[in-house]
Amino acid sequence: MSSIAIDIHPTYKPEGLEGQGFFATSLDKVVGLARKNSLWPLPFATSCCGIEFMATMASHYDLARFGSERLSFSPRQADLLMVMGTISKKMGPVLRQVYEQMAEPKWVLSMGACASSGGIFDTYSVLQGIDRIIPVDVYIPGCPPRPEQVLEGILKIQQLAESEERRRRESPEYKALLAKYGIE
Ligand code: SF4
Repeated sequence: MSSIAIDIHPTYKPEGLEGQGFFATSLDKVVGLARKNSLWPLPFATSCCGIEFMATMASHYDLARFGSERLSFSPRQADLLMVMGTISKKMGPVLRQVYEQMAEPKWVLSMGACASSGGIFDTYSVLQGIDRIIPVDVYIPGCPPRPEQVLEGILKIQQLAESEERRRRESPEYKALLAKYGIE
């Protein structure tokens, strides 16, 4: 079995002031730490990449180590949309509706060649990448990606969740990004 070395760090305390019996830091850092370690994924799985995700959830790879064992099949209670598999053009509006129903802050992870670019299905009926309809934060290459790659993608999302400002949606960059997709 091939494997990719993954740089895993245990949760650490953010920068701050400390002394005997106290520790003080900024609210942004505490919120970032909490968001990073409690991502709730919504698996939007349509085909084989979804099977690799199931392997990532199972005991050997154990996504629970990253605080993400609680999958959500309700967009209202999810903050990480994981798209895995071939997305047909007919499915596009459904995916977009799911994205729009998720509350902020939210992130999108595109898993595998099909979700990211249409993969081998360069046909009239397949969406040639989900970033044509919704913004994507992290892409995972491969057909299918191995679970180690999925974990690496989750770690990248964690880095974003940790470092982004609390009111991400209020930032001009984010507003401009959503405006490009016609999302208010
Ligand atoms: S990228 Fe490959 S493994 Fe993943 S859904 Fe497409 S065909 Fe299946």
